[in-house]
Amino acid sequence: MTSKRTRDRLVSRLSENGVSDEAVLDVVANTPRHLFVDEALAHRAYEDTALPIGHGQTISQPYIVARMTELLLAAAGELDEVLEIGTGCGYQTAVLSQLVPHVKSVERIKPLQDKAKERLRKLGVKNVEFRHADGGLGWPEEGHKFSGILSAAAPRSLPKSLCDQLAPNGVLVIPIGGETQTLTVVIREGDSENFKKLTYDTVKFVPLLSGLS
Ligand code: SAH
Repeated sequence: MTSKRTRDRLVSRLSENGVSDEAVLDVVANTPRHLFVDEALAHRAYEDTALPIGHGQTISQPYIVARMTELLLAAAGELDEVLEIGTGCGYQTAVLSQLVPHVKSVERIKPLQDKAKERLRKLGVKNVEFRHADGGLGWPEEGHKFSGILSAAAPRSLPKSLCDQLAPNGVLVIPIGGETQTLTVVIREGDSENFKKLTYDTVKFVPLLSGLS
């Protein structure tokens, strides 16, 4: 159920559905998604579907993880560091960690993040820094800017705090909306205060909530 063949089937499906970045497809093929869900759900880990991870949250559908990652890579130039909002079970974190030099990941539900940290440690991932924090505020440190930000939780409207933390030409990939959302790519134009917005798939993410849990 977790064989190479099962994973390859998932990758073929993502590719049929329009994911075309070979590096992203390779990483999906090499990331053991069954280790990111409860054992009882492991047999469904390579279906292209979201699955519950406890605390009312879900591991994102592989298509969405791959799609957001490829949108980020395609829109960005050199990505040195990516901020991920909503660590969840850490699957998207693991995917990103294989494609960019440094990842910072914030999550508001501590037990979820603790588990994700432990998983990534066991997998030997060393380029991720975690913080139990409200990601709606980004990674608020004086002057810290990111070449990429990816949010796995959906605000109703675009948070200014996240735009402010984009480096020149930095890219933010984020679902925006209510019950369903529009996957949106926001790009800082050079070092200006102008942001270009591009819209893509209609998606269904959990809401970006404020405060910690
Ligand atoms: N990529 C994750 C997705 C998890 S779902 C995975 O595949 O497992 C989205 C996550 O965002 C949830 O864990 C939720 O708790 C978290 N979240 C929601 N609002 C947040 C906020 N303001 N700051 C940080 N994390 C938040």
